[in-house]
Amino acid sequence: MIEVEYYRRVAEGTVGRVIERVHAPDDWYLKAGTTATALRRTLRGATITSTRRVGKLLVLETTAAAIGLRFGMTGRLLVDGAGPIEKLEYSSARQEPSWTRFALRFEGGGDLAVVDPRRLGGVVLEPSLDHLGIDALEVRERELRARLSASRAPIKAWLLDQSHVAGVGNLLADEILWRAGIDPSRPADSLDPREVMVLHRTLGRTIRLLTKRGGSHTGDLQVARVRGATCPRDGAPLQRRTIGGRTTFSCPIHQG
Ligand SMILES: [Zn+2]
Repeated sequence: MIEVEYYRRVAEGTVGRVIERVHAPDDWYLKAGTTATALRRTLRGATITSTRRVGKLLVLETTAAAIGLRFGMTGRLLVDGAGPIEKLEYSSARQEPSWTRFALRFEGGGDLAVVDPRRLGGVVLEPSLDHLGIDALEVRERELRARLSASRAPIKAWLLDQSHVAGVGNLLADEILWRAGIDPSRPADSLDPREVMVLHRTLGRTIRLLTKRGGSHTGDLQVARVRGATCPRDGAPLQRRTIGGRTTFSCPIHQG
């Protein structure tokens, strides 16, 4: 979600601009029944009115309909050819025209483009936000406690489920739990009120810190995401597991 917030800020530069042409060459990239024809018919002549981010979804509101953009691991947003993070960890700085999966050309010149070598992202017209949980930066402690108490899923998997809190990816989840000193395999409903308080505080602090640093890959645990690595805090050999279907690193000592 941190990267997506950068993209949202870049996309702010398109507010007030009028869409002249829609470029949607890749049907596979259009999700939830969205078609290139529908995008063209709906969006041509519309004005971008605002941008917002819900978890990892970037929403461009227009005078015609909302456009939802997902970036997956490798997608990037460019406005007038420039992006916020040219050296984003997962994506190549190299660029081929065929990697442009979606673009809006504006009247008077300039464009907004989604460049995605691996096609893990997607575009949706009028995205449904019903299934998304509350944004991770906005969830209140009381709300977090209530939601956690309703689930027996491992806390790591719980955090990754966008219907609980939106915006926490794999690296961020590991970093948050490592900082909070919570074992990622603990059932969500087993956290006591003090642990929920710590988790809530750590959630906000970690997201804000990594946003300042430059992305979700800039956490302190990141350097230790290799086999045989040790905990940057106490030097214990880190544990590597699969939780919620994702590779999970944690410290058996201070997260025990
Ligand atoms: Zn440790």
